[in-house]
Amino acid sequence: MKQRLAILGSTGSIGVNTLDVVARHADRFEVVALTGATQVDAMLAQCERFCPRIAVMASAPHAQQLAEKIKQKRLLTQVESGASAIESIAGSTDVDAVMAAIVGAAGLAPCLAAARAGKRLLLANKEALVVGGEVFLRAVREGGATLLPIDSEHSAIFQSLPEDAATWGERVDKILLTSSGGPFRTRDLATLRDATPEQACAHPNFAMGRKISVDSATMMNKALEVIEAGYLFGMPPERIEVVIHPQQIIHSMVQFRDASVMAQLGTPDMRVPIAYGLSWPERIESGTPRLDFNTLAAMTFEVPDPQRFPGLQLAWDALRAPPGTCAVLNAANEVAVAAFLERAIRFDQIHAVNLMTLECVQPHAPDGLEALLHLDARARAAAREVVHGLAL
Ligand code: NDP
Ligand code: MG
Repeated sequence: MKQRLAILGSTGSIGVNTLDVVARHADRFEVVALTGATQVDAMLAQCERFCPRIAVMASAPHAQQLAEKIKQKRLLTQVESGASAIESIAGSTDVDAVMAAIVGAAGLAPCLAAARAGKRLLLANKEALVVGGEVFLRAVREGGATLLPIDSEHSAIFQSLPEDAATWGERVDKILLTSSGGPFRTRDLATLRDATPEQACAHPNFAMGRKISVDSATMMNKALEVIEAGYLFGMPPERIEVVIHPQQIIHSMVQFRDASVMAQLGTPDMRVPIAYGLSWPERIESGTPRLDFNTLAAMTFEVPDPQRFPGLQLAWDALRAPPGTCAVLNAANEVAVAAFLERAIRFDQIHAVNLMTLECVQPHAPDGLEALLHLDARARAAAREVVHGLAL
């Protein structure tokens, strides 16, 4: 039986990489549904190639454009639009596995729908877990879903941990998340404030979406990943560490009680964790070039500089703060990154927006999707006000 797959965010960087792996295994996977937001031509090309039953565009005008083009080409794919259509695909009985690759908190509702419906849930969309926290994990437990990490660091940890999850706590000392350090690791500190969106989006090793690229430049991506690791692996914040490893050969590590360290290595290419999520517990070809130890010059490590990356510490602070704080931090950061990309604030002001929003929004313990969305909206409104006050 083929695994029936829905790819949420198929027109993005993770979505495209997922389809690249899937295309190598037509015998294993059937693409049932694809979703995007605005990239009509990219979605049209994916529909021609993978013939999904349904394609959804989050934006209605873009869905209409897609529908016209699908009709002209006489394709059989049904076109729908809007967030609720994406949510219903995530929970549909026609789907076995859901790749969650929407960017930002917009992916939370479909992730929860997939979790409640007991799907195999491949989670790239880290913001959904950062915002959803315990509510997300409860939906996974109650729905009987299988949650598989796609973020390369979390896939590495998942591969390095013993299979018996119940005994992790006793055997594991700490989790070590690796980070490339992003495009500004060695840039003159005095010029960081003037960094442009183009410079921030020029990641040294990966071509990624613009939001995660800016997060890599501020290291807020690693902050979100610390929170993600805390939830995924049930680790207290004091047992999660971050180390900069510019070559990105080691994708993360687990240190055990006896001082032994397990790491997962490989060429930096998102198709590796994607292929692992798709095939777990088996392994399939990912299309990634093999690591060549004969040409590997060096693997180096550095401690993150808190002056250069002030946002990183917010992860531990938010994990220790009252429930809902991680959702506030995520909302602030999404608003701040969007404002930076629109050139409304400077690069260094992203952190200022995050700090000020955390100071002025008192979270409440969210008990479900509605409460989470309400808190997210409240934090976004506060962050927009802060942005307005700072705007260039
Ligand atoms: P992209 O920006 O490249 O892609 C995002 C996708 O989501 C696109 O398909 C986009 O549609 C769609 N989308 C955007 N906004 C909405 C919305 N409001 N509702 C529904 N769909 C929407 O991002 P990435 O692929 O880089 O990242 C996706 C997720 O994976 C993020 O959470 C990121 O942190 C995570 N991740 C990414 C990695 C990477 O290497 N790229 C690595 C590890 C994690 P369209 O383009 O058609 O407008
Ligand atoms: Mg990552």
